[in-house]
Amino acid sequence: MPIKILADQLISQIAAGEVVERPASVVKELVENSLDAGARQIEVDIGQGGLALIRVRDDGAGIARGELPLAVQRHATSKIASLGDLERVASLGFRGEALPSILSVSRFSLTSRTAADEHAWRVAGDGLLASPKPEPAAYPQGTTIEVRDLFFNTPARRKFMRADSTEFRHINQLLGRIALARYDVAFRLTHNDRRVLDLPAVSDAARERRIAELTDAEFLGNALYLDETRQGFRLWGWIALPSFSRPLADLQHLYVNGRMVRDKLLAHALRRAYADVLHGTRFPAYVLYLELDPAAVDVNVHPAKAEVRFRESSKIHDFLFGAVHQAIRRVRPDPAQHHQVSFASPVAAQQAKIPYETAARPQFFSLSEAATPKYRDAESASPFGSAMAPGSQKLGQAIGQLLGVYIVAQNENGLVLVDMHAAHERVLYERFKKQLTEGGVPAQNLLMPFTVSVAEDEADEAERRQAELSRFGFVLDRSGPQTLTVRALPPLLAGEDIVSLLRDWLGGVTERQGAAHFSEPLDAQHRVLADMACRAAIKANHALTLQEMDALLRDMEQTELANQCNHGRPTWVQVEMAQLDRLFLRGR
Ligand code: ADP
Ligand code: MG
Repeated sequence: MPIKILADQLISQIAAGEVVERPASVVKELVENSLDAGARQIEVDIGQGGLALIRVRDDGAGIARGELPLAVQRHATSKIASLGDLERVASLGFRGEALPSILSVSRFSLTSRTAADEHAWRVAGDGLLASPKPEPAAYPQGTTIEVRDLFFNTPARRKFMRADSTEFRHINQLLGRIALARYDVAFRLTHNDRRVLDLPAVSDAARERRIAELTDAEFLGNALYLDETRQGFRLWGWIALPSFSRPLADLQHLYVNGRMVRDKLLAHALRRAYADVLHGTRFPAYVLYLELDPAAVDVNVHPAKAEVRFRESSKIHDFLFGAVHQAIRRVRPDPAQHHQVSFASPVAAQQAKIPYETAARPQFFSLSEAATPKYRDAESASPFGSAMAPGSQKLGQAIGQLLGVYIVAQNENGLVLVDMHAAHERVLYERFKKQLTEGGVPAQNLLMPFTVSVAEDEADEAERRQAELSRFGFVLDRSGPQTLTVRALPPLLAGEDIVSLLRDWLGGVTERQGAAHFSEPLDAQHRVLADMACRAAIKANHALTLQEMDALLRDMEQTELANQCNHGRPTWVQVEMAQLDRLFLRGR
């Protein structure tokens, strides 16, 4: 075939291949245009999943009669005029591509009226404008775009469409995401004349109402609000507590200058911020807004504008990571914001979405014999000892131990139950981390050094890493091709299975899938500390004195992230007096 310039409509249809993937993409482009036009009210009507009808009506600025034919021409836009403009785009659109693309694959009409017009004007056509001359129409100020029979003239694309209900679900989700970016705009959505969304504009103070409607009703009750500004970047929004993690990445909303984006860099920063407190198979939930100088973001990297590129990407990564990480770490045990257990039955606890493990725990039917005190910090704990009245401390005072697994305590709100292993593990993990940054985990010389047989390459590795190992409190040397001699250990690990711990470590982080607590290779160092904490923490069936239990409670109150164990499960729950009263039908 000879080389030819393609026909106009075909060029637009090719562009449509990228911009108009499915009905939801049309909705996105049209609603974004309405927002760019300053609309305060946007109505979206959908017929048959958007394949029969997509109609978007707004009360924005409108398009003047003379510009109507231009609006549906390729590379025609009112949003940028120069390279300088392109480099600091503040509008959602700028490519001048959406309307011509949509027109080229649908039966299309555009009706618009500006404040200056006496009545509205309309252009329309099936795949092509029927006439460049606008016709008069009756219509209030604003713009309505009607898209019927999407892909009627591109049957190959039409075949890729799913069931109406699936296409509609995409539209519904998309509109919800857009609505989370603009609380000041009202949105309505109907499907086959049935109202699906009706979101009035809300003041800043009432934003949470919209979030609750569009995400999970439980989300905000389990989320922290943060607002951080640094180095010209601002991050604000809501992040879920680690104990509200989700099995899917379905509650992750992130906006950059009001634009919803998919961005690997930002997603990575957020994943890392949660790495310490979330099990690898769970996903954090958030609704977050990043604001920065438009000149610092390149939005011109994706035809549907779903991706962006940052000029200072590592600075932004670190800012996002730092802001979220800090916010999570600031959480301390606080009965007022903590999960409360509904005590009717385990089923009710589940319905309340409290990750409360009843079945998974081994059942112990007797208290263990008095054991050597394992919670060694009893002496170093609160100078007040256990003199205090119940309620003066957040986690209260220990009363006893339940079947070797839970500490039972009372505070001013009622009953406190603590998963003693999980809580102790968290306390130790945070303490080890601190010690590591402050010169190393203290080691205690062993009266009787012992030897460990390992593979030769493991012994090599241990020799190479001798200095590093000593920072973790392990002092050892090589005493043969396949033998190590351990001379000193962190005191809390005495008596634990050091051999397998060392092998785990020497065998390399990447092979240790089974022991992987984190969603990605975080600092290998932290993994080792987490392993150490898990081994050193008191085990089920280990009897504690009341003093030891109190010491653990006091430590939890001082510890960052003490509300969750290293796997993101809660370490303690509160049962309010009122709940207990209900259980006993008191006051009825
Ligand atoms: P872009 O949004 O990239 O500029 P579009 O093809 O989406 O390109 O729209 C072309 C132009 O039509 C816009 O620049 C804008 O001037 C005008 N326009 C589109 N939709 C609307 C609307 N709802 N209200 C007012 N003007 C609109
Ligand atoms: Mg546009």
